[in-house]
Parts: sequence; structure tokens; C-alpha cells
Amino acid sequence: MKAALVQVIRTLNARGWSPATSTNYSFIDEHHQCWVSRSGVNKADFTEQDFMSIDAHGVGSGMFHGIKPSDETQIHLWIYQNFPSAKVVLHSHGKYPVLISQFNENFFAVQGYELQKGFKGCTSHLDSLQIPIIDNHQDMSALCAELDTRRADILQHCFIIAGHGTYAWGETLFDAQKHLETLDYLCECEFLL
Ligand SMILES: [Zn+2]
Repeated sequence: MKAALVQVIRTLNARGWSPATSTNYSFIDEHHQCWVSRSGVNKADFTEQDFMSIDAHGVGSGMFHGIKPSDETQIHLWIYQNFPSAKVVLHSHGKYPVLISQFNENFFAVQGYELQKGFKGCTSHLDSLQIPIIDNHQDMSALCAELDTRRADILQHCFIIAGHGTYAWGETLFDAQKHLETLDYLCECEFLL
């Protein structure tokens, strides 16, 4: 998983989705151990050594004991707790979802695109989808509390944080990347429209 995720991180960075060392990524391995990307690393140079293991509270474990990862790790943990089938979480700072969030409140509504079938469970371009837009907070407990109130609205394995970026996840890296790219594509189409 580490090698495959490194490739995805570099690919997403090449698209301009993780400028200025931003964004973070995580996965749960076959031993139920959660790994998260270390903060402050230029994603163009990201390697397998830049993942750290964390405990259930989001604090470094094993050889990373005592090291604190990005505050946003709390959002990754929230996703794993609320969507137990998730094994990979990807976070993007792509521009189009951020722009969409400046012109929409609470939801990004979308319908009529073939590519919306990129969301697992969506079978038709005619489906009317509403992707939640969550208010941004620097206080992660406030952000997770808001996510709690929006939990029932999160149906497409992703959400947008206003003025900030997107989170998407899946049972596999393949699915997580597909959900992230689908959301970004739909946001780009609607914004350009
Ligand atoms: Zn972020």
C-alpha cells in the first residue's frame, strides 16, 4: 500500500492539488494499523518513509511515539470511525472544489454528468447528488462536531470543506482516488459552466 499511495500522492501533487506542502493522506494496513502522511513534506518528494503510524487518538505510535502528525489527522480518524469500511482517506486542496464552496452553501448539488457514476453506488447521470460543504475550522474538535451533525448527508464517500479542500475515501486506494477525482471533475465542470 505504501508504495502505491506514494505514487498517487505524487500524481495528485503534479496536478496542483497539494501546493505548499499542504494536504494529508492515510490508510489502514492489514494489521489494522493506521498510517498517516507526515506534515511539512513537499509532496513531489514524498516517499514511503514519510508515513507515520498513529494510535486511536491520532498520536504517533511505535517508532513514531510522541510525534504529533497534522491536526487534520483528526478528520481522517473521524472518517474511519463513521465509515468503518474505509481503508484509505485522501485529502486534496484542488482549486475547483474550493471555488465551488465560495458560491454554494451547505451543499454542492450536481446532476446530469456521466462521470458522477464514479461515486460507488451511483448508477445514473440522472441521479441528483448533494455533496455536503462543511464550514472550515482551525479547531479540529469544532470541525468534527460539525461533521457529526452532517453525517447523514455524506452519501458519496466524500465532502468539501469550505474555502479549504476535499476529503474522499474508499475500501481501496483505487476507489478513494476515483471518488476524489470524480468530485474534483464535477466541481470543475460546474464552476466553468
Ligand atoms: Zn487541508
